[in-house]
Formats: sequence, C-alpha cells, structure tokens
Amino acid sequence: MVKPRPLFLSDISDIQKFSRWISTDLQIKDFSVKLSGSMLKLQFDTVENFQKVQKALKAKEAEFFYFQLPEEKPFKIVIKGIHTSTSLEEIQTEIEAKGFKVLRTNRAQKQVLTPVQGQPNTFNKHLEPIPIVFVDVEKQDNCKELFNIIGLCHQVVKIESPKKSPWQPQCRRCQRYGHVQSRCSMPFRCVKCLGQHKTAECDKKPQLPNASCALGITRPTTKAAPKPRKSPQQQTSREVQYPKTMIIPSLNPRNHPP
Ligand SMILES: [Zn+2]
Ligand SMILES: [Zn+2]
Repeated sequence: MVKPRPLFLSDISDIQKFSRWISTDLQIKDFSVKLSGSMLKLQFDTVENFQKVQKALKAKEAEFFYFQLPEEKPFKIVIKGIHTSTSLEEIQTEIEAKGFKVLRTNRAQKQVLTPVQGQPNTFNKHLEPIPIVFVDVEKQDNCKELFNIIGLCHQVVKIESPKKSPWQPQCRRCQRYGHVQSRCSMPFRCVKCLGQHKTAECDKKPQLPNASCALGITRPTTKAAPKPRKSPQQQTSREVQYPKTMIIPSLNPRNHPP
C-alpha cells in the first residue's frame, strides 16, 4: 500500500479553525499537523484523504506543495549508441512491443560553443543531437529486463540506468528545493528580483545591479540545488570550462520533473 505523502502548507493564522475544517468539513479524522520551518507539514492516513485535502486546498487557492513518492516515479533508462537519425517514435514502438509502457522519450543534445573571432570571451552556440536517448517507462515488476536488451531498431545498443544526479530538483515556481512545479501551488518567486511573478515575465535586466536570486545563491537559472545529495566532490564534474562541448543539463531527464 502506498503511504500518503506529507503536504506542506504555508503557515496559517488559526490552527484550531483549520483542524476543524479538516475534521468537520472534510470529514477526515486521522491526520497530524507539524510545524516545519515556516510551513505546516500535514500527514494523512490514506492517499484518498491526502487527495481530498489537496483538492480542497487547491479550490481555496491555498499555498502548498508536496513531494513525489518513489513508487510514483517512472522507471528511467538511457539508451546509448542509438543513431541520432532514429526517430523517437520508432524507439517507443519497439520498447512497447516488449511489454512496457513508454511515458516519455528524450534525445540528448550537446551545446557546442565556438569562439567568435576577434571577440574574446564571446561564443556562438548551437545544439547537436548525440546518440543517447532517455526513456521513462511506467513502473512494473520486470522493468530491469530492459537492461538485457542489446538491440533496438536493428542497431546494437546499450541500455543502462541513468546516472543519479547529486542535486535535488528545484521548483521553477517557488524556487524551493526537493519538489517540482507540477506539485506546487506556492506563490511564484522570481529569481531575478524576488517578485511574485514568473522569472520569464520579469523585466529586470540581469546586468542591472542588485539583481539577485531568490535563495541568495549564484545559480539562479538552473534547477540544481546548492546541497549535493552525495559527495561534494561530484560538484566539480559539473563545472563548465569554456570553450567546451557539453551536454546541456536541462536535457538530462533527471532535471525534467515527471
Ligand atoms: Zn514550489
Ligand atoms: Zn522579477
């Protein structure tokens, strides 16, 4: 049985009134509320009750977010050595013919930077596909059998588990770490000016003084968190030295919230 996930809600003025709303209006008796920083952490006994409250809070336009359970995450694979001209539809059809439900496919690309002659530190950039395809399939008991596949679309390929990112996801909406935009109803927080709007809609020019990131760190436009999940040494592998060819982080499926 899937254990219901906690739901994090912006602090409220009257906890008793709120508890009564859950127990009387929503008819949920078994729940707990715990202070968690500036948020309230709500825990319910069943997934149904979690969903009931989630729906009711959404209707009230409340500010809240929640995390995805491991059981809900898709099974991710990376296909290596597949020619860049192979269509994603063809790959999907072949994997589904083996009894798996494909949720998403994504071809990796690299960003190529070329120095502009006569202009130091200036580069032209363009994207080039590389022979790697990321695939998310629906979780089922035999997903690991995908790693035994050695041929797809008449090509010899290698199927592996994608490398785990040491970084936590960052919400594109509220900029908090550990959850993603699709599970967030918190106010928007702009990484350029801290305003309550989408960063893309901000009219503050990045080169203006005092432009700042919402969390006071210097990586405002990526979804990577400042704290690595594993060893801090892994951070160095992500440092970019120009000019250099690199795989764009945003095309890595780890950075694409499901
Ligand atoms: Zn958020
Ligand atoms: Zn802004």
